[in-house]
Amino acid sequence: MPRCTLCPRKCGAVRENGEIGACHTGREIVVALAAPHHFEEPPISGQKGSGAVFFGGCSLGCIFCQNQEISREAKGRAMTEDELGNLLLSLAEQGVHNLNLVTGTHYTDRIARVLKKIKPHLSIPVIWNSSGYENPDTLRLLEGLIDIYLPDYKYVSRDLSAALSGAPDYRETADQALLEMYRQVGPVRLGEDGMLKRGMVVRHLALPGCRRDTEAVLHALRDLLPTSDILLSLMRQYTPDFAPPTAPKHLLRRLTSFEYDAATALAAELGFRGFTQGKDAASRSFTPDFS
Ligand code: SF4
Repeated sequence: MPRCTLCPRKCGAVRENGEIGACHTGREIVVALAAPHHFEEPPISGQKGSGAVFFGGCSLGCIFCQNQEISREAKGRAMTEDELGNLLLSLAEQGVHNLNLVTGTHYTDRIARVLKKIKPHLSIPVIWNSSGYENPDTLRLLEGLIDIYLPDYKYVSRDLSAALSGAPDYRETADQALLEMYRQVGPVRLGEDGMLKRGMVVRHLALPGCRRDTEAVLHALRDLLPTSDILLSLMRQYTPDFAPPTAPKHLLRRLTSFEYDAATALAAELGFRGFTQGKDAASRSFTPDFS
């Protein structure tokens, strides 16, 4: 039985035997929610919504995760690859603008097999929505199957990524992952309807008390990829509701306008195009209901 090395954790769980990996998942594909989603960036959600499929489990595991209800317990419905294929096709038939695969890193091999079967029947783009903490060799399985990459680019500081995600190697790993994503899909392309058809949107969630790291992230991203070829989504939606009481004190509050405005000003100065969020984005009401 092969030991799993799909994600950068390379924990070696024998998942085919039912062993549970560091991503909290074993043999089964677990889907927590599949529905049109209206809170993504405008050229992704549009009027009709983005066909979001939230997978159970996660290979990164940030302590402040707003989806921890499904990421830490792999809560959801177990399904076969054929069932997942049918689910994706039925979601597409609902008229959504795209299929949006959220946190599927730990199922990449299975999702790639499903997409190979159903891609010829799809007329909408497929989005890979991930933490950015991915193994480039694993991402190669998705070549030709994903139209839009929507990765996070969370940290530069090793200390911060170690403390908040248990991943001191986050930055160098994400760098290689984002380069592979860009190699596959190239520059951003919008359709005549204003919707995103191809390319990359890189997300960064500004965290309270981490202004220096956000600045370092923006500089690092500018140096990694051509700013004219990607879109940046600078997120303000952090809420302390999901951080444990033992989290570093700076995570137990909301982001200040000073912190967010400094980040948006730097992003503009560095030449990024993309999206910002209003103050009201930092609300639990934007978190999907997984019940
Ligand atoms: S995908 Fe899960 S089981 Fe596989 S290496 Fe990563 S954490 Fe371990």
